[in-house]
Amino acid sequence: MKLELRGITKTFGSLVANDHIDLVVHPGEIHALLGENGAGKSTLMNVLYGLYQPDDGEILLDDEPVAFQGPGDAVAAGIGMVHQHFMLVPVFTVAESLALGYEPTGRAGMLDLEEARRRVTEISDRFGFDIDPDAVVEDLPVGAQQRVEIIKALSREARVLILDEPTAVLTPQETDELIQIMRELKSAGTSIVFITHKLREVRAIADRVTVIRRGAVVGEAGPETSEGEFASLMVGREVQLSVDK
Ligand code: ADP
Ligand code: MG
Ligand code: MG
Repeated sequence: MKLELRGITKTFGSLVANDHIDLVVHPGEIHALLGENGAGKSTLMNVLYGLYQPDDGEILLDDEPVAFQGPGDAVAAGIGMVHQHFMLVPVFTVAESLALGYEPTGRAGMLDLEEARRRVTEISDRFGFDIDPDAVVEDLPVGAQQRVEIIKALSREARVLILDEPTAVLTPQETDELIQIMRELKSAGTSIVFITHKLREVRAIADRVTVIRRGAVVGEAGPETSEGEFASLMVGREVQLSVDK
């Protein structure tokens, strides 16, 4: 699915968290959103996910304008979100997380347990996630809990997946596994917005990069852009990197 954000503006009181942000994510593209802490990345994604109403701007999916009153609308339109902090009930099994877990709509009990178990197995097998539907969430390593969140999004047929700083909580090995998972999702046609402030990860996986600083887009880049250029865009001045990884 093609995603386009046009002129998205979001203020909190006098703070302009997003200042006329434009972003286009093509079908099956991994689009990195790069920026320092507080740049406005999560705010933009929360607008896309229907958690915040923008003050200005519009969202288009496959070139059609959409308006989301809440996350339930975004999910129904094919937007999936994996937040920085997982929305999982620790004592639930993976299948129960799909069947009874927190829903963006605020409702629970969307699926019966057998159907949930079947979906977990099907999605896990398709993408090589190695997740047992009967495993208890709190017994799983963080990387596997994150895959449960991804399974939840895919089970609701997300065609644009937002990953908000997914690697912040991962070990280096789990990060490499997630990068592989992003590759699999991409080849299945899922578009991904991958939020990070780690240049190495951008280099490893992103097709396109949008750099945000203080609420505004300050640059766009492709895989050919050097790490030094990225870093300079991010902080708004010339940066010399000692090692170009
Ligand atoms: P990032 O995800 O890039 O680190 P955020 O989008 O979380 O940045 O935050 C952008 C700015 O908006 C920050 O200054 C942050 O403090 C502010 N902000 C984010 N959410 C809220 C909110 N709900 N209320 C007030 N200020 C907020
Ligand atoms: Mg405008
Ligand atoms: Mg954030």
